[in-house]
Amino acid sequence: MTALPSSVLEREHRDLVAGFESFIRRELVPLAAEVPEPVDGPPRDLRDYVRKRSAALGFYGAEYPEHMGGSGMPVTALVQLHHAAGASGCSLAPYALAGPDGPSWLLTHGTPRQIQDYLVPMVRGEKLRCLAMTEPGSGSDAFTITTKAERDGDDWVLTGRKTFVSNAGHADYAIVIADVADSGSRAGGATAFIMALDHPGLRRGQRYFGMTGEPLFELVLEQVRVPMSALIGEEDGIGASVEFAMDSLAYGRLMVAAQCNGIAEYALKAGVEFARQRQAFGQVIGSYQHVQEHLVTSHAGVETAKLLTLACAELVDRGEESGENAALAKLVASQTATDVVDRSLQVHGATGYVRGHPLEYLYRHIRMMTIIEGTSEVQKVIVARAMGLG
Ligand SMILES: Cc1cc2nc3c(=O)[nH]c(=O)nc-3n(C[C@H](O)[C@H](O)[C@H](O)COP(=O)(O)OP(=O)(O)OC[C@H]3O[C@@H](n4cnc5c(N)ncnc54)[C@H](O)[C@@H]3O)c2cc1C
Repeated sequence: MTALPSSVLEREHRDLVAGFESFIRRELVPLAAEVPEPVDGPPRDLRDYVRKRSAALGFYGAEYPEHMGGSGMPVTALVQLHHAAGASGCSLAPYALAGPDGPSWLLTHGTPRQIQDYLVPMVRGEKLRCLAMTEPGSGSDAFTITTKAERDGDDWVLTGRKTFVSNAGHADYAIVIADVADSGSRAGGATAFIMALDHPGLRRGQRYFGMTGEPLFELVLEQVRVPMSALIGEEDGIGASVEFAMDSLAYGRLMVAAQCNGIAEYALKAGVEFARQRQAFGQVIGSYQHVQEHLVTSHAGVETAKLLTLACAELVDRGEESGENAALAKLVASQTATDVVDRSLQVHGATGYVRGHPLEYLYRHIRMMTIIEGTSEVQKVIVARAMGLG
C-alpha cells in the first residue's frame, strides 16, 4: 500500500517512535512472552520494571516539562507513542507510558514543594497515584459531589465516598476531589487533595471487577484529616479543580483516542492477515465483498480517527486546543476502535471468539473506551455546546 495521509503528520517524530517500537520489540515482547496473561493484567513487579526502564530510556513521563522531571516531549510525539503501544499488541507496552496511575496534569498546578514531593517521583516512574472523582451519585456530572472538605484550624477534614477508582489497589497516593463549598473559604467548590492511600481514615471499600484489567475500588473517607499542604495549589487551589481538571481531561481524552487508534490498527491488521489466508467455498475469504466491506470500512475509520487525533495534538502543541476538539477525537476514535475490533472478530469467526485469542480479549477491553475520561454522550454534549446548541 502507498503512504497513508496520516504519515504526513507523523514524519517529524518518526525516529523517536521507531526507537519506542524497537524498545517494545526487543525488550517488552520477550518479557511478556515469559509470563502467562493473568486476568487482571501483568504482575506488579513486571509493570514496575517496565515503567522504570521506560523512564530511564526517556519515554515514560517525558511529556512533562524538564523542571518537573520530564523532557517536554510534544503532544504530537506522545500520541504517536500511545498509538504504537496499542498497535504493538504487546500486553506490557501500555505500562511503558504514563497512564491513569502515573503523573497527573492536575499536579502541575501544585506548589513548587508539591511538584517536587509528588509529581517529580511520579514522572520518574517511582510513585503511582489514583484519581478519586466519581461518586455513587455522580459520574458524568463529576463536580456535583457530596464528598466534603471542611477547614479545621490549619487542617482539612474530608468525609465522603468515591467509587470506580482505578489503580487504588496498588497506588501510593490518592488524588481526591472534594467540595469545600461549606467551608467558609473565600472560594468554594470542587477542590483536589493528595494523600497517601494508607492515610488514617481513608480505606478501600467495595471492589468491582470490570470486563478486563485490574479491579476498580470504592474509597471511603471517614474524617480524613490532612494539612494544607495536601490541598493541590494550597490557598490558590481552593475551588479551582474544575479549571485544573479541564486541561487534564482534554489531554487525557487525546491519549485515550491515540490508544484506541493503536488498538484499532492492531485489530484491523489481524483481520486483514486472517482474511488473506482463511479459505471458504474454495477461495480466500478476503476475496468476498462482505468481508472486504468489514475491512475497508475499518481501514477508512482508523485512518480518519488517526488524522483527527494527530491534528488535535498539533493544536495542543501550538497552544490552540479548545477542549471540544479533544472531545471530538475521543468520540470518533473510541467508537471507531469498538467497531473495528467487532468487525475483525467477525471476520475471524469462531477463531476470534475463543478465550486466549487477542481479539476476544480486545473485544472486552475496548468496551470501556466509550465510558472512561467522559462518556461518548458527554463528548457529544461538549461538541454540541461548541456548535452553539443547547
Ligand atoms: C474502566 C473504568 C475506569 C474508571 N476509573 C475511574 C477512576 O480512576 N476515577 C474515577 O473517579 N472514576 C473512574 N471511572 C468512572 C467514570 O469516570 C464514570 O463511569 C464516567 O464518568 C460515567 O459516569 P457513570 O458511570 O456514573 O455514568 P452516568 O453519569 O450515570 O451516566 C449514565 C448514562 O447517562 C449518560 N448521560 C449522563 N449525562 C448525560 C447528559 N448530560 N447528556 C446525555 N447523556 C448523559 C451517560 O453518557 C451514560 O450513558 C472509571 C470507569 C470505568 C468504566
